[in-house]
Amino acid sequence: MPQPTESYDAVVIGGGLFGVYAALHLARTQQRRVLLIEKEPFLLTKASIVNQARLHGGYHYPRSVATARMSDDHKERFTRDHQAMVHTQFNKYYGIDRYGSFTDAQQFERFCAYLNLPCERITEHPLIRFDRLEALYRTVEYTFDPFLLADYYRQQILSEDKCSILCEAQVVQADIQGEEWLIECRAATPLTVRTPLVVNATYAATNGVLQCFGLPLIDLMHEISEMVFVHIPGFEETGLTVMDGPFASIMPYGKSGLLSLSSVAYTHHQVSYDPAPAFACQKKRSDCSPGAPANCLGCPHRPASHAVKMIKQIRHYLREEARVQYFQSMFTIKSKLRANFVDDGRPTEISKRHSQPDFYCIFAGKINSIYEIERLITP
Ligand SMILES: Cc1cc2nc3c(=O)[nH]c(=O)nc-3n(C[C@H](O)[C@H](O)[C@H](O)COP(=O)(O)OP(=O)(O)OC[C@H]3O[C@@H](n4cnc5c(N)ncnc54)[C@H](O)[C@@H]3O)c2cc1C
Repeated sequence: MPQPTESYDAVVIGGGLFGVYAALHLARTQQRRVLLIEKEPFLLTKASIVNQARLHGGYHYPRSVATARMSDDHKERFTRDHQAMVHTQFNKYYGIDRYGSFTDAQQFERFCAYLNLPCERITEHPLIRFDRLEALYRTVEYTFDPFLLADYYRQQILSEDKCSILCEAQVVQADIQGEEWLIECRAATPLTVRTPLVVNATYAATNGVLQCFGLPLIDLMHEISEMVFVHIPGFEETGLTVMDGPFASIMPYGKSGLLSLSSVAYTHHQVSYDPAPAFACQKKRSDCSPGAPANCLGCPHRPASHAVKMIKQIRHYLREEARVQYFQSMFTIKSKLRANFVDDGRPTEISKRHSQPDFYCIFAGKINSIYEIERLITP
């Protein structure tokens, strides 16, 4: 029996923050009827919630002025648009490790001055130790709350008449017919969709989807990543990021009351240099493959936690009296452009990969770069 065919003005693949924002943009500013296709049972359950929630202001990228500038460009608008979801009232410190850092105090100060980022050197802190630090700076950085943000955008898309949502559905093949894409979806009821415009916002699955459309792949690498959540009495409203290399960072996870802890040395468990994320653990699940990775959140085959090592690492910078209490870990796949391997930049790349029918690919580096969608996906 032929499968049902539906027509839409646009199809967005991937229901993370970037896919949801792209769907809203197409519906609200271009008056398009949009279908949002998500592989998992719910929207916004992967990198959009499992991240460090840093509303980047630029400090983090002394090796990539381009990423630093981009972060700063969007920070103000993101904070204004998401006031109830952004935590601004905490003390944020950047420290420079005395040993093995890719930057030093002088360079960091010059970088902040160049980008006009507030940074004041301090020599005392009741909970931070200075013996491993060359310098410590009081800075201004915020965090967004990924869970509040996810709730907000779920509500936005559910109340948008022009947007339809299809969860637990996956694109398996796509062909061109005239000036439209003909997309075959595997879902509870298999479906064929016709559309003149596709947006691929699938992050770790970017190349799997490009393959289905027969389009050139993006040069990516992938890591299974662990974010650790802890509580430190007396440190609730404090963040500390140690620069620049295999060091650790701790900061309020939005408004949750918890601190997120990451470490360049231990957050990333396994690395895949393949175009699509290929990990040994995928062999243990029939529904997880490089082209269509499953959700690591709650996966029984995720790697054993590095929480103990990460806590030990951040403790190097905290005084004895700071008690770190482990709460939980969350895992997801982090994907990066291989071109940024050396400078550690995290640009958001939106590229038009096909015209008539149109195909855009969003590869997101930073949450606050959602606005790039408005600039680059134009009628
Ligand atoms: C560990 C870590 C720390 C980070 N820290 C920060 C930070 O502090 N600050 C910051 O700004 N950014 C940070 N980032 C980056 C940021 O989280 C990502 O850039 C952003 O979340 C990507 O959003 P997205 O919507 O593109 O991807 P996702 O949220 O991963 O959404 C992609 C969606 O596509 C769906 N999908 C996949 N394949 C298919 C398919 N075939 N069909 C249909 N749907 C599909 C997935 O199920 C998923 O829901 C971090 C990322 C990680 C992983």
